[in-house]
Amino acid sequence: MKTKKSGPIARFGARYGAVVKEKVRAVEIKQRQKQKCPFCKKLSTKRLAKGLWLCRACKKKFASHSYYI
Ligand SMILES: [Zn+2]
Repeated sequence: MKTKKSGPIARFGARYGAVVKEKVRAVEIKQRQKQKCPFCKKLSTKRLAKGLWLCRACKKKFASHSYYI
């Protein structure tokens, strides 16, 4: 089943309110983006799981915040 809304918050439908969804959307977009590695300072770090990050440039896997570094 497809919904007409798109993006990471579409799964919430009409529930939970617009303000809450806007906050969730901002966090989710941020967590999907590649982030700066604290070791080599390159934008090549991806989130593997909650709080687990992997840098492709220096091959380091490390724990950090759940949704961002
Ligand atoms: Zn790195």
